[in-house]
Amino acid sequence: MKIGISACLLGYNVRYNGSNKLNKELLEILKDEELVPICPEQLASFTIPHLPLEIKNDVVYTSDGKDVSNQLLTGCNLAYEKIQDCDFLVLKSKSPSCGYKKIYDGTFSGKLIEGNGYFTRLAILNNKKVFSEEDLELIATFLEGNDCNL
Ligand code: SF4
Repeated sequence: MKIGISACLLGYNVRYNGSNKLNKELLEILKDEELVPICPEQLASFTIPHLPLEIKNDVVYTSDGKDVSNQLLTGCNLAYEKIQDCDFLVLKSKSPSCGYKKIYDGTFSGKLIEGNGYFTRLAILNNKKVFSEEDLELIATFLEGNDCNL
């Protein structure tokens, strides 16, 4: 299968602070698949490093209060173009771009709320199947050809 995946999960140093979130367990599950790395924030031309971003009331803010929603949306659209023929996506949890089901609450205090990042919203709007990197068992089940009812 062809799978779009958050680039930081593959070890690319594209996170806001210049680090990555390499997930070896996930990569072991995906080792026989074709992977298409994407980073909406990099495609939105945020510098690395850059200030942390969080979503509050559907607006994306930097930690110093600047509205960067349109900038991030541009990157999300570019990222979507790259993965539109993928069978499904595996995205980094909690991110204001790639988060699925939970994101930070916009107060930059580490508090999580239910919600999806901007890129994830776009993917779901386009009926893409999405998994979080935390859904290891569900991903494995899906790859075995069993519907996992997401
Ligand atoms: S935008 Fe997505 S791929 Fe890029 S660093 Fe953040 S979580 Fe990773």
